[in-house]
Amino acid sequence: MPTAIPVLAILCALFGLAALWFYIRLKQAGVPLADSSTMLRQRNDVLESVLEGLGDSCLLVNQRQDIVFANHETHDLFRTSGQLHGRPLAELIQDQAILSFVARVTKGNRWQEEEFRLGLIRDGSLEERYLVVSAAPVRLFGEEQPDHLRVVIRDETDRHETEQIRKDFVANASHELRTPLSIINGYLENLLDGVIDDPVMTKRSLQTMQKHGERIARIVEDMLTLSKFESASETGASALRQSSFSCQECVEDVVDRLGPKIEEKRARVELLFPQDASDVIDADRFYWDQIFFNLIENALKENQADGKLILTISFTRAGGAAIMRIADNGVGIPRADLPFIFKRFYRVAKHHSQTIKGTGLGLSIVRRAIESHGGTIAVDSTLGVETAFTIRLPDLTEADLAGQEP
Ligand code: ADP
Repeated sequence: MPTAIPVLAILCALFGLAALWFYIRLKQAGVPLADSSTMLRQRNDVLESVLEGLGDSCLLVNQRQDIVFANHETHDLFRTSGQLHGRPLAELIQDQAILSFVARVTKGNRWQEEEFRLGLIRDGSLEERYLVVSAAPVRLFGEEQPDHLRVVIRDETDRHETEQIRKDFVANASHELRTPLSIINGYLENLLDGVIDDPVMTKRSLQTMQKHGERIARIVEDMLTLSKFESASETGASALRQSSFSCQECVEDVVDRLGPKIEEKRARVELLFPQDASDVIDADRFYWDQIFFNLIENALKENQADGKLILTISFTRAGGAAIMRIADNGVGIPRADLPFIFKRFYRVAKHHSQTIKGTGLGLSIVRRAIESHGGTIAVDSTLGVETAFTIRLPDLTEADLAGQEP
């Protein structure tokens, strides 16, 4: 009897090893080892948890191109709230180029990626979006061959716009600098070749060169200011040198500096500020000098010296914000130009803009400076009646100033 115990133990070990070998072979052969509905549910749960919160729209479509899964980002991108499961992909993406791309990937049976430009409805209006779509065949439910397609859609509109702004900026800056540079070079050539030799003409040429040299300097200076303000808007309020100062004092300083121009334009400047100390703001004074200077200087330089020009600068507080308004009763800005005037190098071609000194960067600087303080600026204009720029500067909390969440 005692010899039976080791024999039994050996038999049990052999049986265990055989069971393990059998299990490994079944796994290698892909035979389901648990109840298939539980496995499917588990697999779906894993899939969903991976595909949700990816940041990009992600869809699974079957070979008939019906949607079998769509994550939340898909609903956000296409602004749909209803059930997508079971609906044809063509109902969601009504763009023939993307649908043909998906069909090509299904046919070619390999991963592909392409960029598409299409119009999507945003808040009731059609908006141009840049989407990068990648699609890859996938095997679901243990099939031998890929039976589904995974479609990932990345919205690259913001990156595309930033890239475009950068390209436009370089192109515009080069164009703006090229004109005065070629004028200077032309005069220099004439002077060196002796084409211009009498003293009066020489002096006039030098003066023209000086004027264009100053213009180049002004463009470069504005570009540097803009770039500084843009980095500040990216890094937030923490990059600003905050101090408490009276807005009225800041405006009065600017009006003083612009005194000769105000006289030259025979303009009247009216300041409407509260009598208590509520015009004190916490901000970077250097920026606000630039903001008021650019806005007041624009109102002066864009208008005639007919003695009728009135500039009204007012300050009020409402809804937890300081509201500043810089208005003039001059020529005004055509309605069609209003959406563009804050863009870099944009100058209104109408009225006498071509003869007025300016780089087209002033209002971009103003907007950037205000945005880096968390504020906004809006413009309204009625030709020949009034042009008003309204700045809204929300009161910042201590946490905002430190660049933290309140
Ligand atoms: P600029 O350096 O040419 O002044 P800005 O960016 O400051 O460029 O202004 C853009 C354009 O907006 C100007 O060319 C001008 O035509 C128009 N503009 C700005 N402010 C006024 C105003 N107060 N009245 C009329 N036009 C204005």
